[in-house]
Amino acid sequence: MSLKVHQFDAVIIGGGGAGLRASLQLAQAGVKVAVLSKVFPTRSHTVAAQGGIAAALGNVAEDKWLWHMYDTIKGSDFLGDQDAIEFMCKNAAKAIIELEHFGMPFDRLDNGKIFQRPFGGMTQNFGETPISRTCAVADRTGHAMLHTLYQRNIQANTQFFVEWFALDLIRDSEGDVLGVIALEIETGEVHIMQAKTTLLATGGAGRIFQASTNAFINTGDGLGMAARAGLPLQDMEFWQFHPTGVLHAGVLITEGVRGEGGYLVNSEGERFMERYAPNAKDLASRDVIARASATEIKEGRGVGKNKDAVYLKLDHLGEELINKRLPGIREIAKTFANVDPIKDPIPVVPTAHYMMGGIPTNLDGQVVINNEQVVNGLYAVGECACVSVHGANRLGSNSLLDLVVFGKAAGDKMVLEIAQQKTHKPLPSDVSDATLDRISRLNNQQNGENVAEVGDAMRKTMQTHCGVFRFPDLLASGVSAIGEVASRAQRLQIKDKSQVFNTARVEALELDNLLEVAVATMHAANARTESRGAHAREDFGERDDKKWLKHSLFTKQNNTLTYKPVRLKPLTVESFEPKKRVY
Ligand SMILES: Cc1cc2nc3c(=O)[nH]c(=O)nc-3n(C[C@H](O)[C@H](O)[C@H](O)COP(=O)(O)OP(=O)(O)OC[C@H]3O[C@@H](n4cnc5c(N)ncnc54)[C@H](O)[C@@H]3O)c2cc1C
Repeated sequence: MSLKVHQFDAVIIGGGGAGLRASLQLAQAGVKVAVLSKVFPTRSHTVAAQGGIAAALGNVAEDKWLWHMYDTIKGSDFLGDQDAIEFMCKNAAKAIIELEHFGMPFDRLDNGKIFQRPFGGMTQNFGETPISRTCAVADRTGHAMLHTLYQRNIQANTQFFVEWFALDLIRDSEGDVLGVIALEIETGEVHIMQAKTTLLATGGAGRIFQASTNAFINTGDGLGMAARAGLPLQDMEFWQFHPTGVLHAGVLITEGVRGEGGYLVNSEGERFMERYAPNAKDLASRDVIARASATEIKEGRGVGKNKDAVYLKLDHLGEELINKRLPGIREIAKTFANVDPIKDPIPVVPTAHYMMGGIPTNLDGQVVINNEQVVNGLYAVGECACVSVHGANRLGSNSLLDLVVFGKAAGDKMVLEIAQQKTHKPLPSDVSDATLDRISRLNNQQNGENVAEVGDAMRKTMQTHCGVFRFPDLLASGVSAIGEVASRAQRLQIKDKSQVFNTARVEALELDNLLEVAVATMHAANARTESRGAHAREDFGERDDKKWLKHSLFTKQNNTLTYKPVRLKPLTVESFEPKKRVY
């Protein structure tokens, strides 16, 4: 079959914050750039970000990027690469001012400067006292940021392919990436998007778990594409569980609530974080709070009919502040928990939220393989990438920052690479064979597996075997269990082919990608015999720097794990040596 070929200098997969920051850089430099998005760009998950974006502006109290760097390294449980963290924290203030000048309507202090609120793990003077470092637009920061970036892209003439679903990367025999193969969802037609540079900005994959704060579209498509193209996935054992997802609904209640003075209580009305983190209390790192809540519930001090949640109390903040700074939270609590937080506490539980791992990259967003060797033509930025600034645990409000800092850096590097390449490299003759085989197998499968049932089995397996606390027997049995689910997915069948807009087909293809992520997660978690950041094992309760101060790399072919050192050397300042992490 001959497919239609479209040629661009740069093709970007993903219209979230990461993709749009990079595309803006490219469009403004005058190169021919296309953004593919499976949903309308302003519906990307970035739109749901509530609490804010971090930068040491010092608008509320004295602040330094070095303190932000220290907090991020400590938050990462020393697994973050210190050169990347320095780069991000140092460029943060510039990135915020740039967003402001793009038109992002930040909240203001009385003196007119950008408003900042405290967030977990963000401190003054290397851990001394909590600091207000997180810039916000009420509790709708991501919404404001994404719309601002989208409008700027329209102005800069970025070309959008909306409701196009990227299927697979195109790699030639030398390993270079030459674009992607994509499905136009409405028509079901498959196209070739040929490009000198390709950027994956496909976001997270929180939908591998049953209880998740993530949108249904967060299915790890970029990771699936990378894995199928023979590329490694880094640090997949590290998943952040957010302490405050609404019980039974999963919808997020931002950490900004605790930043504004809200706190958690158990069934005895005790403010229990005082026991687990005497200094930072409810503003400790997310992994610490999620474990504390899970422990309270496990030990019988949970609230509600089944004692399976804890309460987030904010009524003492007063109606005026809640309406001004947390209006979205009030709406969410009313809709999903049936309580008005002005009067009553919200029942919350630790809920899968963020993927620290991803496609390994360098500081320019270029995808790298085992020995830091660059994959020509391929970039990754945002939640699908692992640069790695979040290490074993991300600090809240550092992800939006990661998107814009590294989105710009990748855009700049792509502009340079495009300038050096006069023509497109020729496409391999078998360019689309594997992808078309996959699609035709899906179309023609008889007596196969039901997509929803296999998806449920995957989510249940991950939730049971790879949750907040991890147990050796459950991890080991989880590896075979997820393997079985993945083999069932080889025989997926679309039951209702008459469905409009090919949604059933897209769901099946998304499940392929989710499973790549789930399998990598389970293998990497089972292999790491220590507790670090969000990876907490019952049998190995301590961090083990001697054996495990290293990044994992999972490769799909034969399910192999290899490891590479953490980059402990920053760019210009002294290293922060690993030490015990207390809040
Ligand atoms: C509820 C919630 C609240 C959060 N709050 C905060 C916060 O306050 N501060 C903070 O720093 N972080 C926050 N985070 C985390 C942060 O929002 C995300 O990590 C970040 O927005 C991800 O951005 P991204 O650009 O990488 O991906 P996304 O915004 O998820 O965008 C992914 C894009 O890829 C496209 N795509 C995916 N697959 C394909 C495919 N196969 N073909 C074509 N297109 C594809 C999608 O259409 C979409 O446009 C929050 C996360 C959640 C879930």
